[in-house]
Amino acid sequence: MRTLFIGMDGATFRILDELVKCTGDKQAVMPFLSMIYKKGVRSKLLSTPNPLTPPAWVSLMTGKNPGNHGVFDFIRAEERGDDVFFTLYDSRDNKAETIWSIASRQGKRVAALNFPFTAPPPKDYSGFMVPGFIPWRHLRRNTVPTDFYDRLKSLQGFNPKELAWDFDQEKNAVNVLSDTEREDWVRYHLPREKQWFRIAEHLLSEEPLDLLAVMFDGVDKLQHQAWMFLDPGLQSGIISEYHQRMRKLCMEYFMLLDGFIEALVNAAGPDVQVFMASDHGFTTTHEVVRINSYLHEKGYLDWKVMPDTKETVRREESMFANLDWKNTTAYCRTTSSNGINIRVARNPGDSGIKPKDYENFRDQLINDLQELRDLDTGERVISHIHKREDIFPGLQMKEAPDLLLVFRDFGFVSIKNKKPIIEQREEVAGTHHPDGVFFAYGQGIKQGKVIERRNITDVGATLLYSLGLDVPGDFEGQVPEPIFTEQHLLKKPVVIGAATNFSTNEDESESMSEDENEQLMTQLRMLGYME
Ligand SMILES: [Zn+2]
Repeated sequence: MRTLFIGMDGATFRILDELVKCTGDKQAVMPFLSMIYKKGVRSKLLSTPNPLTPPAWVSLMTGKNPGNHGVFDFIRAEERGDDVFFTLYDSRDNKAETIWSIASRQGKRVAALNFPFTAPPPKDYSGFMVPGFIPWRHLRRNTVPTDFYDRLKSLQGFNPKELAWDFDQEKNAVNVLSDTEREDWVRYHLPREKQWFRIAEHLLSEEPLDLLAVMFDGVDKLQHQAWMFLDPGLQSGIISEYHQRMRKLCMEYFMLLDGFIEALVNAAGPDVQVFMASDHGFTTTHEVVRINSYLHEKGYLDWKVMPDTKETVRREESMFANLDWKNTTAYCRTTSSNGINIRVARNPGDSGIKPKDYENFRDQLINDLQELRDLDTGERVISHIHKREDIFPGLQMKEAPDLLLVFRDFGFVSIKNKKPIIEQREEVAGTHHPDGVFFAYGQGIKQGKVIERRNITDVGATLLYSLGLDVPGDFEGQVPEPIFTEQHLLKKPVVIGAATNFSTNEDESESMSEDENEQLMTQLRMLGYME
């Protein structure tokens, strides 16, 4: 038996349910997925507490919550004295063993394509790996095995610039896209997915793999910039010619994706077990909350006074807060974190609060955040405020923000120095929702069932179980047994085995250059991680 895993970044039932329906004599946009709805099992999949791509995929791949793997955001910050330095996370920040490594060290033949934070690849990994979320120039040296990249080059139509992130595409990126830019952005993801599909198909036909896993991230990219053309609730009223064209283009994307899923399932053979999942769902956000402006108003932070130059404008537009650290005790680092960091003085003379005042300070901060209310209705704008020990228990908890905020419309915060603090968006946008999707289909799997919501950490456990391996004893995720037929479970009971075998990746291979970091940030802005 073979196991096939297809990741769809940001996929949500809110969109998919509509795309699998036949209306009148019109065929469904995703007929193959429609068949999986009928002949497989599906459930909602609860994402990580901050339903964000990096922590969520790493949790899916490691069976652990971010408090145990250590990836909380796109960007890691380090406070040194009175300054804060930012770098992008990579695989070396993940402190937990991935299912790709767990399976390959037990003799399974594994291929993992386009998963974020898998570069640089682990040294002991013996399968195939082409990492995602890296610039195309870094592909060759991060592709495993070492000769695999040259093999890819001989594939018909292979184009690394199309496959990976090509920054030339986005050099003119601004926060608000023009209609044409938006259309180009959506269009750009069709050939990208085709590149990943081709590699997956090639491996399935040429290699005796036990597990092929491939991730299609265009779903998330499209939904960030084209939500208003996709959400079923936003398709009434005046529909412009542009809107119709964009919707059609988005449908083309999902049709293409459906064809890829079908072809991969068929290529995997008749005895396959297929699993599909997203890292988080999607929903509509209506408002912008400028959290650092609020913290400033409450006396927690001070903005850095900067001369009125181009450099200042660039800093203002950048992904992270530009603050006067000496006068800042609590702040939000990045728009994608939705978290608040408290600055604690570690050494005499450091700025920040005294360690002994931490609890009282944090309680006061929580009170102040609860008082952020809608001026018209009096409703709280922040629906949940989580303390990190409640949601990120584990060895890496110290890397987490002190508080995690969940907003009433699930939006990402703004960290800009701008007023008003709460503002309606000019145009509604897509944002991440905690509920993603999970599908299972094939040999040993029940038919036409919807089961209770599962946790994203369960996916890793499920894939290992499907491969006939034990679920590591230190996994937080569990195998959702109601997916499988009783006969299958009798024949193959779930076994909890030895703990994972994590070894630090001491790979000293170079990280991304300043320039590339900068370009990646630009890409994140394109996704809407700036108001
Ligand atoms: Zn995502």
